Amino acid sequence: MGQKRIAIFGSTGSIGTQALDVIAANPDLFSAEILTAQSNDVLLIEQALKFNPNTVVIGDERKYAAVKEGLKHTDIKVFAGEKAIHEVASLDCYDMMLAAIVGYAGLKPTLRAIELGKAIALANKETLVVAGDIIMRKAMEKRIPIIPVDSEHSAIFQCLVGEGRNKIEKIILTASGGPFLGKKPNFLVNVKKDHALQHPNWSMGAKITIDSATLMNKGLEMIEAKWLFNLNYDQIQVMVHPQSIIHSMVQFEDGSIKAQMGMPDMKLPIQYALAFPNRIPNDFPRYDFKKPGTLTFEEPDIKTFRNLALAMEAMRQGGNMPCILNAANEIAVYAFLRNRIGFLDMTEVVEQTMQKIPFLETPTLEEYFETDGEARNFAASLIHM
Ligand code: NDP
Repeated sequence: MGQKRIAIFGSTGSIGTQALDVIAANPDLFSAEILTAQSNDVLLIEQALKFNPNTVVIGDERKYAAVKEGLKHTDIKVFAGEKAIHEVASLDCYDMMLAAIVGYAGLKPTLRAIELGKAIALANKETLVVAGDIIMRKAMEKRIPIIPVDSEHSAIFQCLVGEGRNKIEKIILTASGGPFLGKKPNFLVNVKKDHALQHPNWSMGAKITIDSATLMNKGLEMIEAKWLFNLNYDQIQVMVHPQSIIHSMVQFEDGSIKAQMGMPDMKLPIQYALAFPNRIPNDFPRYDFKKPGTLTFEEPDIKTFRNLALAMEAMRQGGNMPCILNAANEIAVYAFLRNRIGFLDMTEVVEQTMQKIPFLETPTLEEYFETDGEARNFAASLIHM
């Protein structure tokens, strides 16, 4: 296996920094050629000095001078601004994009990389939630792999290796249940952001941590799985598995179930996606069957965690409904993180936005962009942002 040149979009985030750890541990296999951040200039400079990429981009143009100054004794190219993040996706200097920007902002650069025939390691689930039909069609046309990084989807992908055309009866997406497993609305109504940001099993960026606490994350993952594995609504089941050891399962036509297991550590699915189709050795912690512990499973409580029910409904309706759901959810989560709305208000914002924005059955890409803007504006108007 030669050296694979990686472009990390969102290198300063939770996924981005862990990916750089994987690259640092395997310098013969990987190099980091593009690094992008939104506003964390200090970490971006530090990463660039360590990994010597071809290009770095800082989204916030006010930070350009600082990044340029920090890298002035190198020949690393420095750009700034949202447009530059899209444009560097067209460079020749990389083979695979790790799409690790958070939220809708990750869609356009990923789309551009697909159009140019780059392999994609996809962490940014929102890309598939918003425009999964278009993304998968373009990837198919270009014959490029989209390798999931999300641990559940990586698990399913791994279960499917070697299965050829064998039909999937259903997949079982496991969910940790988040920090509020078993809680009821009378508790949730008083939840504050500091509590919601404490996930029991995973250390992640703020947005996905809140999505995990509301179970919206699992809903987004159902939609992501639908597109990645070409499944129908009723072939995707969610089971709460608080220990996060089984990362997901596939049940085949003969009733046989395959599961992928391991410690809850995102470096493993990141490494798998970067190295695919190979497995490479590492010193990550191992699951030990000899240690006491029980693996348990239960149905999600979608009456309490209504975000999951809303996401299922958006998936069932299809069209631009998941895009509406996603946009409203992003507005609601950031409002919650700024203490503007309560925990349960997030669901209200999403539900009302889904009821308000016109439904389109087969949107074009432009219509997805318009839907996203309209849904954001309406959701923000509910919060008076
Ligand atoms: P983080 O918030 O930790 O990092 C996000 C990255 O994107 C940072 O590099 C950030 O830059 C950059 N960024 C933020 N906003 C913008 C923007 N508007 N334009 C361009 N870049 C931007 O997120 P995570 O790493 O946790 O998650 C990234 C993606 O991966 C999400 O889609 C998430 O759902 C998915 N994912 C994450 C998992 C995890 O364990 N963290 C697990 C599975 C999936 P800066 O640091 O400068 O703000």
